Amino acid sequence: MGRAFVYVILGGGVAAGYAALEFVKKGVSHGELCIISDEPVAPYERPALSKGFLLPEAAARLPSFHTCVGANEERLTPKWYKENGIEVVLGTGVKSADVKRKTLLTTTGETISYKFLIVATGARALKLEEFGVSGSDAENVCYLRDIADANRLVNVIQSCPEGNAVVIGGGYIGMECAASLVINKINVTMVFPEEHCMARLFTTKIANYYEEYYKSRGVNFVKGTVLSSFDFDSNGKVTAVNLRDGSTLSVDMVVVGIGIRPNTGLFEGQLTLEKGGIKVNGMLQSSNSSVYAIGDVAAFPVKAFGETRRLEHVDSARKSAKHVVAAIMEPDKTGEFDYIPFFYSRIFTLSWQFYGDNVGEVIYFGDMSGSAFGAYWVSKGHLVGAFLEGGNKEEYEAIAKVTRLRPAIEDLTELERQGLGYAVTV
Ligand code: FAD
Ligand code: NDP
Repeated sequence: MGRAFVYVILGGGVAAGYAALEFVKKGVSHGELCIISDEPVAPYERPALSKGFLLPEAAARLPSFHTCVGANEERLTPKWYKENGIEVVLGTGVKSADVKRKTLLTTTGETISYKFLIVATGARALKLEEFGVSGSDAENVCYLRDIADANRLVNVIQSCPEGNAVVIGGGYIGMECAASLVINKINVTMVFPEEHCMARLFTTKIANYYEEYYKSRGVNFVKGTVLSSFDFDSNGKVTAVNLRDGSTLSVDMVVVGIGIRPNTGLFEGQLTLEKGGIKVNGMLQSSNSSVYAIGDVAAFPVKAFGETRRLEHVDSARKSAKHVVAAIMEPDKTGEFDYIPFFYSRIFTLSWQFYGDNVGEVIYFGDMSGSAFGAYWVSKGHLVGAFLEGGNKEEYEAIAKVTRLRPAIEDLTELERQGLGYAVTV
């Protein structure tokens, strides 16, 4: 049994949805494009799962957050794919790929062949077992990557009103889930190995601002240690979290956010890998000319930094998706992907954005005791990164623009004096 398509997108997440929209905008013919996803639903905006989806009231539910609403584009419902002649194969994993033969074998035993393959398989959540701790399968231990995880998390939250949660990990999932748990009136203790939250992006000073805010909302922090084991009751439910520093925390539920691994397994030994992802060039093309990669799984050249990076954020998934379709359908009119990294988060009533690279000297601006403050990163005499909490639309656009321009900075004191005004007027 087999079918053949001109274009196949492997994976049905954020990047797949945005690529589908771009294919239609560029006039793909009915029957040419197929999306294969092991998720049971059409592509959706994954960021909603740790935010609107977890609200105790008026929570976001599908179909409201199918792609591409997150970028104020059309909402691509299953009906949209049908009307546009796109074959969406849901609830079906791809179990092997043969890039020489240009075929994929699905879990249902079907062989799907392609002329162009776009790998958009994203990533999977790292499990505690990979750090030598068992208990991930307990009914009150939650991870958060897909809609099934999110539904499970909602059920666990509802099963322990005003209960105690331990959140393992001080990264994005940890911070956003801790905020959502507090909004659900759950008592939260965050446990992570670093000295402060969001250690890969935030400076100590920026992290302190958020930690103080979280403390004001009742969150406890246990820093500089990791989980060593769980205690279980006779039903296999976790009742306590034992930490390596010797302390124990009683719990009703646990949320784990300790990072991800890109889903590259199908292509190991077939495509060149780098930084844990599939290495692609500026046209997002892999070491096999018929195979492209986008989103979390792609390691692509960031022109402004002069190096290959793999990003795990929705904006790069959306933009790389748009670019790959142009690169495939209009190669002569399409240049290299020229992307400035953009990360953001929304927690409680706070909201921040970051553009560029967090290397070099840090210059702070604004009022940390007020609502809006930020920082610039200056490396080798150029402004290379900018962070802003509590900005308005124009201010965020300004820090995005200034980061793209990479202006030469001769006087750091003057930059500090001008603060956000520098970005706004440049
Ligand atoms: P994904 O969206 O993960 O999609 C990959 C798809 O491939 C999935 O459908 C998966 O099931 C499927 N797949 C994988 N392997 C196979 C296979 N063998 N066969 C078939 N299908 C397969 N980023 C931000 O910038 N801001 C945010 O606020 C933000 N919030 C987030 C909140 C949560 C809870 C999570 C989990 C992530 C968040 N992110 C956020 C990150 C962002 O969602 C990802 O960067 C983005 O989803 C990457 O898109 P992708 O298409 O590459 O991968
Ligand atoms: P992150 O990489 O952001 O954070 C993982 C955190 O867990 C780090 O603080 C890490 O520390 C810590 N950690 C690692 N191992 C352990 C351990 N054994 N015990 C305790 N802590 C540990 O990953 P997340 O899981 O938070 O997020 C998953 C993905 O979802 C990421 O790709 C992220 O970008 C994405 N996401 C993005 C959001 C956004 O952009 N707003 C929101 C939600 C998710 P260390 O740094 O030392 O390894």
